[in-house]
Amino acid sequence: MKINKIWFRDRIVDESEALISVLAPTAQFGLNAFEGIRCYWNDEKGELFAFRLDDHIKRLMISCKMLRIKCPFTEFELVNNIQKTIRANGLFQDSAVRLTVFVDGTGSWHTSEPTSAFITATPKQRTDIDRPLTYKACISSWQRINDNVMPPRVKVGANYINGRYAHLQAKSDGYDIPIFLGEDGEVAEGAGACVMIVRDGVLITPPCSASILESITRDTLLRLAVEIGYKVKERAVDRTELYLADEVFLCGSAVELSPIVSVDGYKVGVGVPGCITMDLMKKYFEIASGVSVKFPHWITVVNTK
Ligand code: PMP
Repeated sequence: MKINKIWFRDRIVDESEALISVLAPTAQFGLNAFEGIRCYWNDEKGELFAFRLDDHIKRLMISCKMLRIKCPFTEFELVNNIQKTIRANGLFQDSAVRLTVFVDGTGSWHTSEPTSAFITATPKQRTDIDRPLTYKACISSWQRINDNVMPPRVKVGANYINGRYAHLQAKSDGYDIPIFLGEDGEVAEGAGACVMIVRDGVLITPPCSASILESITRDTLLRLAVEIGYKVKERAVDRTELYLADEVFLCGSAVELSPIVSVDGYKVGVGVPGCITMDLMKKYFEIASGVSVKFPHWITVVNTK
C-alpha cells in the first residue's frame, strides 16, 4: 500500500511517522482548529486548483483566534506547505486537503501551547453530476450548538461531537443525514454542511447568525446564484419550509452540493434532484476546476503536470 506523505509539524513525513502523545490536548479534548479544502483537476490545463484556499486559511486564523491559540505558520507558509504536501503525494487528480492546527504537548484543555500543524492530501473524486448521491434527511431532536455555548462559526474538532450525536441518531432511525434546528427552533445546518432550499425559484438559506459555520461553499453559491440571475434570500427558515420546498440540498467543501430528496418522510418536490440544484452544481464545478473564467481569484494552482 502506498504510504501517504503528511506535512507534520515542520516537514513532510510518512504517515506512520506523524505521531502525537496520547496526552496531547488535541487527542484528549479535540483541541484543534481545522479546514477541509477541495482541489479539482483540470485536464485541459494540466493543473490542479485548490478552491478558495485563501478563504479557508483566513477562516483557520479566525478559529485559532477564538481558541486563543497561535497558528505556527503564516498564511503564506501555509499555502506553500499545502503545495509541498500535494506534490509529495504526486496528486494530479481531484483531491481533498485537511489542514489542522492543534495543541501539542501534554497539557490540559485550557493550555494553549505548544501548537503544531499537520496537512494531509488524498485523492477524492468530485460528485458525479450525472449520478449524484441523494439523501433522506430528518430534523434532528438534537439542537445545534450556539454562539454562547460552542460557537459554530469556529471550525474546531470538539464542535463535531454535536454533529456526531445527530448523525448517529439519524442513521439509527433509518435516515441518511440530520438537519439541526437552533435554540430558536429555526433551521440551522446539517452536521457537516449548510442547508439551502428553493421555493418558487428563490434560493433561500439561513443567515450566518443562525448557528451555522460561515461556510465558504454557502458563500460561493449565494454569489454564483446572483451572477446566474437567480433570486437569493438569507433569512430564517422554518422547519415546515423544508417539507414544502421545491428543492433542498446540503452544501459544503466535503459534500459539494448534495440533493436531499425527503425530509422526515415528506418528499421534496418530486423526489429527485431539482433543476436549480443541478444547475448550481454544474457551474460550481466549472468555476472550482478552472473551466469557467468567472471568479478566477477563487482558484489557486497547487500542482502542474
Ligand atoms: N457546516 C458545518 C458544520 C461544516 O462542518 C461544514 C464543512 N466545513 C460546512 C458547514 C460547510 O463549510 P464549507 O463550505 O466552508 O466547507
